Formats: sequence, structure tokens, C-alpha cells
Amino acid sequence: MTDKSLLAVMLACFAPLLTSASPPEAAKVCNNESEWTEPTGAFRIFGDSWFVGTCGLSAILIKSPRGHVLIDAPMEENVPALEANIRAAGARLEDVRAIVFSHAHHDHIGGLATLARDTGAQVHGRGFDADMAEAGHALPGDPQLKVSRNFPPVRPVDRNVPGKPLRIGGVMLTPIATTGHTPGSTSWTWRSCEAGRCVQMVYADSLTAVSDDDYRFSNDAAHPGYLPQFKASIARIGALRCDILLTPHPSASEMWQRFGPTAHQPAIDRKACKALSARAAAQLDERIARERGGQP
Ligand SMILES: [Zn+2]
Repeated sequence: MTDKSLLAVMLACFAPLLTSASPPEAAKVCNNESEWTEPTGAFRIFGDSWFVGTCGLSAILIKSPRGHVLIDAPMEENVPALEANIRAAGARLEDVRAIVFSHAHHDHIGGLATLARDTGAQVHGRGFDADMAEAGHALPGDPQLKVSRNFPPVRPVDRNVPGKPLRIGGVMLTPIATTGHTPGSTSWTWRSCEAGRCVQMVYADSLTAVSDDDYRFSNDAAHPGYLPQFKASIARIGALRCDILLTPHPSASEMWQRFGPTAHQPAIDRKACKALSARAAAQLDERIARERGGQP
């Protein structure tokens, strides 16, 4: 046994003692925590909220006796693993009533059309990204228009209103507009309860300023008001009531340190959203400084 695998076994043994989340169930340690297609199995995050994604891409299942909600359907090639994870979480595919998503790039919704078909779930999305989900490709206005990969289109997408809770079965999810990474980027909050304790869950969408080489977030003439909206989104995440932070890329919020078989830090971290917001604000400031210096 290598030192690394010994450490992994030790962490797996002690994780249940060190975190306030339930012990991992049927989950496996990631060889590469950023690998988009590496399976990691399903495990409970807190209460009825389960991780059903892969090592490098999140998908979250919120279970309820009157129907479940899935957040994100990362990549077409991951669908068999995602469906196996949903079943491993103790849910039937046909009981998934709704699928919502963070933003309409293939790494987060490439499996959405197939999962919507296999579950019969209604898909909900916000504005511009609902349009991209239905198109199956990026649209002008997406900072990553040229580098985004196409994906199977999803039709129809029900348009949700930011801030207005979505009641699905026994789940109440609130969409939060976090325009920036894409124009229709959406974050989600809900409550999960376990052993009489309820916590506020936040699924904060990507806040990274990533783009095509010729896109400038600071070019207000090309996309009026986009940069102030992006800054407001980052501030909005920092101001949320936030007990448990989750992100579409687990690495963006160090999820593997707090959940799953290698967890060694508390699942609940009330400062996590503030810290994510501060990192995103600093990254955006650096990006704008580079743009003003003539670089992307
Ligand atoms: Zn993206």
C-alpha cells in the first residue's frame, strides 16, 4: 500500500467522526479530483441532499417523498454513471420530477436531454441559459461562445424567475441570478434537514471570468451593464445565508475536503460563501486589470 492510499484509507475511516455529514455510502476515492468523467459513486451530503456526480463535476439530488429534484446533468458520457448514482441514492429515475441547472455549458448540462427523457422530469432554467439549453449550443452573448462545445438540445425548458421559489414535490428551491460566467448563470438555495437539524444549502454557480480570447468583460459597449451585473452576482453569493456550500466544479469550493470518502473538514462552513465570493472578486479584478493592459 502506498503512502497516498494509506492516507486515503485513514481519511475514509475517520471522516465520519470528523464531519457533521452522514458517513459516505457506496462512494469511492477519486484518483483525480478534477477529472470530469471519473466516477465517485453516490453519497449523502446532508439530510435528503445527495451527491450523484463525478469526481470533477457535481450533480446534486434532493430527495423528497413527493418527488426528487436533480441539479445539473454533467456531460452526455456521464449519464450511465449519474443514473447509477441516483439509484444508489435510493431513488427511482421516474421519481425525479424536475431538473434545474447552473449554466448551459456541456460540462454541466450535456446529459440533460437524456436524463430528462429517462426520468420524464420537467427542466427549469433561467433566461439566456434556458435559450442555450434549448439550442444545444452557446449563443452570442456567452463569453465562451467560440470555445463552448455543443450538447444535445433540451426541449422544452420552463423559465424560472430569479428569487421566486420553485416548489417541486416536497422540495422548495430558490433560484438566484448570478449572471457573469454566462448571462443566465443561476445559483440555487434550499434547506436540508437531518436528525432534527436544518441547514441552508447553497449551490453557487461558477463565478469565474473565463472567455474567448477576443472577449472583454470590460467592453461595456459590446454588452452594456455586464460587468456591474457580474460584480453584483459575486456580492450576492457572499451575502447569502450559507451553511453548506456546493459548487458545479467540486474543486471550486474544496468539496472533497468536506464531503465524501476523503472528507476531513466539517461539512458546515458558514464562511464558505463569503470566501468563494472574495476569491471570485479578486479574480475578476485581476482579469479587468489585464484587459485594461490590453490582454485577455
Ligand atoms: Zn461553464
